[in-house]
Amino acid sequence: MKVNEWVARVGDIRIGGGNPIVVQTMCNTHTADVDASFAQCVRLYEAGAQLIRLTVPGPAEVESMRMLRARLDDAGIPVPLVADIHFSAATALAVAPVVEKVRINPGNFHRDHETARSLFGQLLGVCAESGTAIRIGVNHGSLGEYITGLYGNTPEAMAHAAMEWIRMCIEARFFNVVVSLKSSNTVVLVEAYRHLERMMREAGHRFPLHVGLTESGNGDSGRIKSCVGISTLLSEGLGDTLRVSLTEDPEAELPVARYLADRYEGRTASSLVSLKVEGKQVCARYEAPSRERLLLDASCDFGKRLLEGSVDALTLEGTYLDTDGTPVSLTDSGFGAYLEDELMQAARRRFYKPEYIACPGCGRTMYDLQGALEEVKARTAHLKNVVIAVMGCIVNGPGEMADADWGYVGEGGGKVSIYRGKTPVLRHVPQEEAADRLLELIESEGSQGRALL
Ligand code: SF4
Repeated sequence: MKVNEWVARVGDIRIGGGNPIVVQTMCNTHTADVDASFAQCVRLYEAGAQLIRLTVPGPAEVESMRMLRARLDDAGIPVPLVADIHFSAATALAVAPVVEKVRINPGNFHRDHETARSLFGQLLGVCAESGTAIRIGVNHGSLGEYITGLYGNTPEAMAHAAMEWIRMCIEARFFNVVVSLKSSNTVVLVEAYRHLERMMREAGHRFPLHVGLTESGNGDSGRIKSCVGISTLLSEGLGDTLRVSLTEDPEAELPVARYLADRYEGRTASSLVSLKVEGKQVCARYEAPSRERLLLDASCDFGKRLLEGSVDALTLEGTYLDTDGTPVSLTDSGFGAYLEDELMQAARRRFYKPEYIACPGCGRTMYDLQGALEEVKARTAHLKNVVIAVMGCIVNGPGEMADADWGYVGEGGGKVSIYRGKTPVLRHVPQEEAADRLLELIESEGSQGRALL
């Protein structure tokens, strides 16, 4: 069967159809603060971002996006801007002519599904007229009742959710489309994209894929989880644009994203020097130029094999170079064993510490999200078999926490809500007390025994 391979046109950038993988990120400034947003866009562009997304909650931010586009144009910075829309179809319709791409989850345009379809149809018309691309962005944590009623809360359901809107695009002859299916769970993520690729090909229309692990958190774990999930997809040819979302400043995402793009386009190779395989046990030896590089290399070398179960046990040996050029032994320093544990957990094969889910934060974040995540991690590190989400806003955070046992969600004004699953159990807790209250609740319920595999 002939498959049409569509290419998305986002400003001067082309996504899909064999074009180089496009690296993108998202501002965490308040979009209405145009000075701060402009300054961050300039920094991100200079650091290698090829596409920059900003949250657009309402009409005020539509105007901010217009000003931001004009200021970037005046500064000779052609980086395309992507408007991130949640819930408000009216905002999507208003901002579409202002930006190069609109990211929406059409399923949350309206509670009534037929109304959501009608609003999405209107958006296709506006985008066609203004030459604006659309990203259909489905998240595992916020699948609508309509779709879970039909297919359950599964990776396949995510692909079906996207296919409904894709079919509407095809019927409307609107092909300037990118699709994403994000999850914080590496297994769900990979399965969802595989289903989507198959379904699009069966439909005869293959749209470019935006890939990324959502709510991956920060630090080593965030990087390792992202690389395990994204590298598995890229190794299968799934991924035309990518974002590594970390609960850190967005500048920190770009080196990881660039590494992934370079590696899967053949511009960089692993620092792996030898491999000893006995059945499903592997001993890998590295000579890495840095700690971070070792972490990224090992995540990409073994992520897919761990996810698929072709490797059961991993021993990492060799060295990396410290910042002063001194070789550090993976065995003597314990870093090899630590990385083995992290890789096992990232691939959801073995959990040696709590699983933390944390959004990267964006213009909707009204509190110190990065500090909150660090504090929650420090206070709960001793727990086992528990999934804790730390989310930046009360609007989307609770809906996006997917399968977290506990949620710590910023309300704004220095207050936090604490959730058990998707149910709020404490509201308006001052942030300075919130990590303690969360820990008390978890310990009072003896939440130690859930099987996460
Ligand atoms: S959950 Fe986090 S990333 Fe998502 S909209 Fe809220 S603050 Fe932004």
